[in-house]
Amino acid sequence: MANLGIPANTIEILQKYKFNFQKKFGQNFLIDTHVLDKIIASAGVGKEDCVLEIGPGIGTMTQYLAENAREVFAVEIDKTLIPILEDTLSEYENVTIINQDILKVDINRIAEEKNHGQPIKVVANLPYYITTPIIMNLFENQVPLESITVMVQKEVADRMQVGPGTKDYGALSLAVQYYAKPEIVANVPPNCFMPRPNVGSAVIRLTKYEIPPVKVIDEKFMFALIRASFNQRRKTLVNGLVNAGNLGIEKEDIISALEKMELPATVRGEALTLEQFAGLSNLLRCI
Ligand code: SAM
Repeated sequence: MANLGIPANTIEILQKYKFNFQKKFGQNFLIDTHVLDKIIASAGVGKEDCVLEIGPGIGTMTQYLAENAREVFAVEIDKTLIPILEDTLSEYENVTIINQDILKVDINRIAEEKNHGQPIKVVANLPYYITTPIIMNLFENQVPLESITVMVQKEVADRMQVGPGTKDYGALSLAVQYYAKPEIVANVPPNCFMPRPNVGSAVIRLTKYEIPPVKVIDEKFMFALIRASFNQRRKTLVNGLVNAGNLGIEKEDIISALEKMELPATVRGEALTLEQFAGLSNLLRCI
């Protein structure tokens, strides 16, 4: 099968199957061989790897993955793409296509059955409308992962990478940085896709930590604190946490924990580092 990274080959397949793009599925197919090469190289895909691809589309990146990996599992929600994928990937015996919503797939089972529970690599040009739930599900469900290398909206890639004191810093930054080391490896303009998205894109690699960089007694509680403090960004951290109402902590206890950490009672959540959120969470959990 011809390389679908070349625009003329993608157009031929789309016409052959009279394919209609579905906006609701975030369908923007890659048509740039340099970007595809860059993604495969950044993900470090090799012959020993079991790779999960989310949203293979017509199979453009899947072809590259199949050439480089030991085994590829490609999960595609749009059933009209399945006959196309069976055609474009027919020569690869190491690809399994799964017609399902990625948020409903038991990825732990795939890793268990197909990779002996060893860490898999996730590589994808993600549907932008569900980037955050996809990434958070992978981390929170404790999927055995080596890395996640994905194309996302540029602004979302920035949010994953930044630290305190910037407008992009928030709950997503802290969650990603608790589980993984983020690195933006390429910025990708709209003309590398068909159809062109209205936003800039970036490829980001999240290399999973074997042990998180901070010690937390109760992860769920720390993330509840983080969410509560960014839900009310303009309020002080103390008021944000008290107003959340569901954390079961007293105002005085928060102020006293902040004092122990040498932080002013007027500090805002957006000023705290991951280490400080972990510290605060541990102090409040020990009361
Ligand atoms: N990988 C292809 C490429 O790079 O050309 C297509 C990428 S396109 C941005 C996103 C793909 O994800 C589409 O094929 C879309 O149908 C699929 N998709 C959208 N929502 C999905 C979901 N919940 N589960 C699985 N696939 C999904």
